[in-house]
Amino acid sequence: MIVFVLVISAVVAIYKKMKKNTLEKSEFIKELVSVNEKVKYKNVKPLYTFEYLCSSRREFNRYTLEEYLVDLITDDTYLFEKIINGVAYNKKRYGRYVDQVERIRQSAAEAVESSTLFDKVYKKCEDGLLKKTVLKKPTVDTMIDCRITYITPTGRSKSWCENRFSYNELKKAYEKTIKLKESKEKQQRQIEYERSKMTSSLRYDILRRDGFRCQLCGSTADDGVKLHIDHIVPVSKGGRTEKSNLRVLCDRCNFGKRDKIEETNGEI
Ligand SMILES: [Zn+2]
Repeated sequence: MIVFVLVISAVVAIYKKMKKNTLEKSEFIKELVSVNEKVKYKNVKPLYTFEYLCSSRREFNRYTLEEYLVDLITDDTYLFEKIINGVAYNKKRYGRYVDQVERIRQSAAEAVESSTLFDKVYKKCEDGLLKKTVLKKPTVDTMIDCRITYITPTGRSKSWCENRFSYNELKKAYEKTIKLKESKEKQQRQIEYERSKMTSSLRYDILRRDGFRCQLCGSTADDGVKLHIDHIVPVSKGGRTEKSNLRVLCDRCNFGKRDKIEETNGEI
């Protein structure tokens, strides 16, 4: 028994010494450590979970999971941009890292051509240590779990639907949402530009041209109405602030039109 313990202790001691020796000596382990220091992956989770609680059965029946995902992206574009870019970066960086590790291990395996027992043990020990030094695989894929739930006011009945969106589905939804957002912003800028063209001088020109009368009912300020400059094609629908698209309307006639906000900008 004592002999057995002694043998084990001796083997452990030799192994430890061997390990220490290899760590100090191996250029390949040092190289791998220095490669590791340069690797910085993005912090992405493999799974994200979102849940939306509907306030009515009607909302639950109408709201789809695809719409929910688009709303999530619209509300927190930055988060989804980080997830998508993080996964793409990790995938690319990890691929490069795997190649780097493979090259180092290959060089280590080919480095010592001697076949003495010591060299064989050293190589085995070195390769084992190299394997242990390899960094863990980062998140190179992600999924989005979306769930829409409705609980009846009494709390007795619960309905839900859910879907797991893949990375590619998320990317598609993200690109679609961004395009939509950009086109809305462009439209908003166009609206603001058209509004800014409505000067008091232009306003006066239109009033004079239209005889200070509502072009629908003929009322004037003397009839107790307020006159507005109306965009015939509303700015929100692409209408321009130019004479051919402007006319005088009284507040009563103007009130009947949609896009009221667009039309009231010409109030006098
Ligand atoms: Zn009128």
